[in-house]
Amino acid sequence: MDYDKLAELLFPSITKTPADIEAAFPKRMLPEGARVTRLGPSPTGFIHLGNLYGAFVDERLAHQSGGLFYLRIEDTDDKRYVEGAVDTVIDSLQYFGIHFDEGAGKDGETGNYGPYYQSRRGAIYQVFVKDLVRRGLAYPSFLSQEEITALRAAQEAAKEMPGIYGKYAKERGYSYEDIEQRLQKGMPFVIRLASSGSPDHPAQITVEDGIRGTLTMPENFQDVVILKTTGIPTYHFAHAVDDHLMGTTHVVRGEEWLSSLPIHVELFQKLGFPLPVYCHTSVLMKVDENGSKRKLSKRKDPELSLDYYKELGYHPRAVKEYLLTILNSDYEEWRIANPDTPWEDFPFTMEKMSSSGTLFDLDKLNDVSKDVLVKIPAASLADFLRTWAAAYRPELSDVLADEKLVKILDLGRDGKKPRKDLVCASQMFEFIKYFYDEYFVVEDAMPEETKGDEKKILEAYLASYDHSDDQSAWFEKIRGIATDLGYAAKPKDFKKHPEDYKGHVGHVSTVIRIALMGRSQSPDIWAIQQIMGEEQVRRRIETAAASL
Ligand code: GLU
Repeated sequence: MDYDKLAELLFPSITKTPADIEAAFPKRMLPEGARVTRLGPSPTGFIHLGNLYGAFVDERLAHQSGGLFYLRIEDTDDKRYVEGAVDTVIDSLQYFGIHFDEGAGKDGETGNYGPYYQSRRGAIYQVFVKDLVRRGLAYPSFLSQEEITALRAAQEAAKEMPGIYGKYAKERGYSYEDIEQRLQKGMPFVIRLASSGSPDHPAQITVEDGIRGTLTMPENFQDVVILKTTGIPTYHFAHAVDDHLMGTTHVVRGEEWLSSLPIHVELFQKLGFPLPVYCHTSVLMKVDENGSKRKLSKRKDPELSLDYYKELGYHPRAVKEYLLTILNSDYEEWRIANPDTPWEDFPFTMEKMSSSGTLFDLDKLNDVSKDVLVKIPAASLADFLRTWAAAYRPELSDVLADEKLVKILDLGRDGKKPRKDLVCASQMFEFIKYFYDEYFVVEDAMPEETKGDEKKILEAYLASYDHSDDQSAWFEKIRGIATDLGYAAKPKDFKKHPEDYKGHVGHVSTVIRIALMGRSQSPDIWAIQQIMGEEQVRRRIETAAASL
């Protein structure tokens, strides 16, 4: 077979050679050791937590080494295109502080290695496909879907591996004339790789995975499709050509790609490209209601979607901080030792990543979030809460516009042991909503110990209330009310001699708390009253007393 002639027959309009293309994609001029990574999403616009997790690895590898991180849209499967998907990807990652240095963008593309949409790179791929045909390493295949299905059924019945390989790769033996005839009939064709792997005795190949270390697996022997009937390549082929030409040094992708790694190794070999460092991240797992560990699922677990965090109002810094704790096993330790250091200073390495399923735990995220939020100034938290409300709870925008919001969010956060009870915007609002009359509800019951005395307590409180009292003067008055009504002025006195008292000062102040906040737990009452203002305090106490 004259492969040159065959290549011309199949790709008459492709006149460039691989060398021409290589010349148009020169080696990147980057410092020694700089890593080039990319995110290659399909344009469905759905970016989930697993993608974000992977994107963090990309981002760290690139930016920690003085390299770069680019966005390439893998849109070879046109059925999956969703309008606005690129903007969604960029915005979603931007929200969590991840930016691309190059590639597909909101206003077109940036960088010298484009186009960054695979659908626009058809001619480039075909140059390489044509070259493989010319070298006898790829061939046209005219099998119809029915023929492939029938073959698969026969192979399954004979308990053989399905696919086109070895004796099933009959079309490898077609003559030039056989092929020409079919083309003349207008038969659609794909291009398959002529694998040199052995179906009977596949050799073992080894690959050094950036995360998993040395991987040993059987070589590929399938004549996989590299170019579809549409002239568009498959993922296998497109990523090989692109990652080579675009200078990707590290391919970070999910472990679901591990099984096709042998195909990729063979493709890189046949194309004459050096293999990038593959880094297969592990899937995110959770412990479910039954206590068993399982993969996070799009269908069952809303927390897999990034929108979940946006809707609940998790601060992006908190999500980022949490992802770092699950990305690298020693991040938490580092964070404790370096509480105020920017996260970018953490020496991230792939060796410290898990390769056997990363456990994602919402409770842990909440804990991390509390630690992160306590360090964010109240004014900035207030802005965050308002921005969140504008997007997800617009009906709250008016009440949150009030300037007292900053003071409310700052309650109890000064001093040595600041309160760490803010988790996310939706919870923050629930936590502080008693300040706003529209949202004030009485949630808790009065304590047992004060039964029958509530009205008296509140009336005495109102009578003695002086908004200008400082905290200790204010508390002395509560003690006075407590003792007048037969309650211990100190909890420890009550504990020692419970028979002498109805309860203690804490029970008395709980009555006040419930009248003011509707809750038995809250930050410091005096501080809250100072934010509420005298009018609101008196009104709440009066209303509660009147309702008893
Ligand atoms: N387009 C592939 C996907 O959406 C990307 C895999 C890769 O990063 O190589 O899963």
